[in-house]
Amino acid sequence: MNSYLAPLRDIRFALFDVIGAEALYQKLGIVNAQREIMDAVLDEAAKFTQNVLAPLSAVGDEIGCVHDKTSGAVTTPPGFKEAYAKFVEAGWNGLTAPEAMGGQDLPESLGAAAKEMIDAANLSWGNYPLLSHGATEALKNHGEAWQKEVFLRPIIAGQWTGTMCLTEAHCGSDLGLLKTRAERQADGTYSITGTKIFITGGEHDFTDNIIHLVLARLPDAPPGVKGISLFIVPKIRVARDGTVGARNNVMCGSIEHKMGIHGSVTCVLNFDGAQGYSIGELNKGLVAMFTMMNTARLAVGLQGLGLIDRAYQNALRYTRERLQGRSLSGVKNPDKPADPLIVHADIRRMLLTCKSLAEGSRMLALHAATQVDILHRSQDAEEKKAADELLGFLTPIVKGMLTEWSVECTNHAMQCFGGHGYINESGMEQIARDARITTIYEGTTQIQALDLLGRKIMQLQGSGMRRFLAMIQSFCEANAQDEALTEFVLPLAEVTKQWGELTIEIGRKAMGNADEVGAASVDYLFYSGYVALAYWWARAVATAHAGSYPDDYKTMKRETARFYFARILPRIHTHAATMRSGAANLQSLDAALFDS
Ligand SMILES: Cc1cc2nc3c(=O)[nH]c(=O)nc-3n(C[C@H](O)[C@H](O)[C@H](O)COP(=O)(O)OP(=O)(O)OC[C@H]3O[C@@H](n4cnc5c(N)ncnc54)[C@H](O)[C@@H]3O)c2cc1C
Repeated sequence: MNSYLAPLRDIRFALFDVIGAEALYQKLGIVNAQREIMDAVLDEAAKFTQNVLAPLSAVGDEIGCVHDKTSGAVTTPPGFKEAYAKFVEAGWNGLTAPEAMGGQDLPESLGAAAKEMIDAANLSWGNYPLLSHGATEALKNHGEAWQKEVFLRPIIAGQWTGTMCLTEAHCGSDLGLLKTRAERQADGTYSITGTKIFITGGEHDFTDNIIHLVLARLPDAPPGVKGISLFIVPKIRVARDGTVGARNNVMCGSIEHKMGIHGSVTCVLNFDGAQGYSIGELNKGLVAMFTMMNTARLAVGLQGLGLIDRAYQNALRYTRERLQGRSLSGVKNPDKPADPLIVHADIRRMLLTCKSLAEGSRMLALHAATQVDILHRSQDAEEKKAADELLGFLTPIVKGMLTEWSVECTNHAMQCFGGHGYINESGMEQIARDARITTIYEGTTQIQALDLLGRKIMQLQGSGMRRFLAMIQSFCEANAQDEALTEFVLPLAEVTKQWGELTIEIGRKAMGNADEVGAASVDYLFYSGYVALAYWWARAVATAHAGSYPDDYKTMKRETARFYFARILPRIHTHAATMRSGAANLQSLDAALFDS
């Protein structure tokens, strides 16, 4: 049966040893972030996710959420509501929230480590606090003082949850098309009317109230994205003084039946003159919503990571136990009728793909999360600017690649189980189904790729990328003379140089033909992801090599890095060739001729 054991050792290695988060937290003056406290937080997160959340994952998949058409109420799977109550009681919901608002003020990157465990244990359940965390960020950064008191405080306390309402039937990736209307009322509130679809956590039984953050358009708003405003629309009305009133005019019309994440409710929400308050500047709602979306994008990247790890650890256990066939190089298990699956080269290829992508992704994602800490807490304007640029560059890579790798790796892990992976009982097919949404919501892979190449590289002149390249270059220079690292440092320096050249080449082509951006963007995203992970793998080996780790641990890191450099990194050459082939092979066939 499918199980979950939190990878605490590798989380600590990535966060504290490779990234050096402890020193960073001290520099940023995060008083609560002492090592004993953080170790205790990680240990408790492991216990909670393994013992409370993981056992509910299969039942969430089997039973899913139930919608009562008459009342609009949604019942979540058995045990979900009780797990949420325990989560709130233990203070997890406010782990990284400001102390002044009732939170524990711990670093976002520590929260990210805990979040990986939550998602690995039970992705569906994790979506509810994920949305609350996004709403927290939007309210914290853009809310007025009274809005923070009235809405943010109860969300941080876990008393209410949040949602993010962007999507409409005709408006998904292109938010400029949204039609939901907001009309100003005499009392300064807004009347919100429209239908939002696919809203995660739009209705549930965890809490009495749900705070929807809704994108809508004023009657005189300019067309497109420049005419979008953001509104707070509670399920139960709340007055400015915090008094809770009557039911608001927002109802869950139906819930979706879908491929995976059955325990995470996906709602059609009908707003019929619902009372709302504007948040942030009118017609600049996208700015406030982007705060929420960027938080959520990193969070969805962590979902990908959690799933890769869960899939991998189950495949590893199974391939060590299951006896099938004999090793091609001679019998390895003479006392048994067959050798374990793990002796076979291709099983090892799949396992090592999962392992190298999981451990590499962990360093990439946790490092990105430390940039959030710097951005939120540094007093130094230049340091904040650097973190902002680096984070902007890394976010589409974390979201795009960790989710794409989760789709790849959960399928590898299922393949390791053979037919036993395809049937429900092993739980492996659930992980593969659950993973599939991660490349779609919070901006599809294509949208992440356009954000990376079109916006972060071309529009912003690659400021974030330059900072990342400088990190790699300084690592390569510092370790150039270390013979133990040459096998990683030399190829890393070479692919980093090629990455820079390729970026200039694609950028030049795109100046002449905008279609080149779209044609190159997804390959560019993948290329960037693979080079970024090569850097983190080289750093992992350097850290293990220099530290006082047991020899087995050093060997494990080095051999996994060797696998990564030999068998995963070369994928960049295909991506480079495809990018260089240009836009013409995609654009020259007339759309009308596709079916001729
Ligand atoms: C389970 C689930 C939960 C969700 N939760 C929420 C939620 O809580 N809140 C919310 O607001 N939304 C939510 N969504 C909506 C989700 O964010 C959208 O489905 C997603 O943004 C894509 O929009 P779409 O489905 O309309 O696809 P479309 O935008 O129609 O895209 C279709 C395809 O075209 C591609 N495409 C679109 N534009 C471009 C372009 N310019 N260049 C290249 N390719 C392009 C896309 O990548 C995609 O492959 C959820 C969706 C699901 C399925």
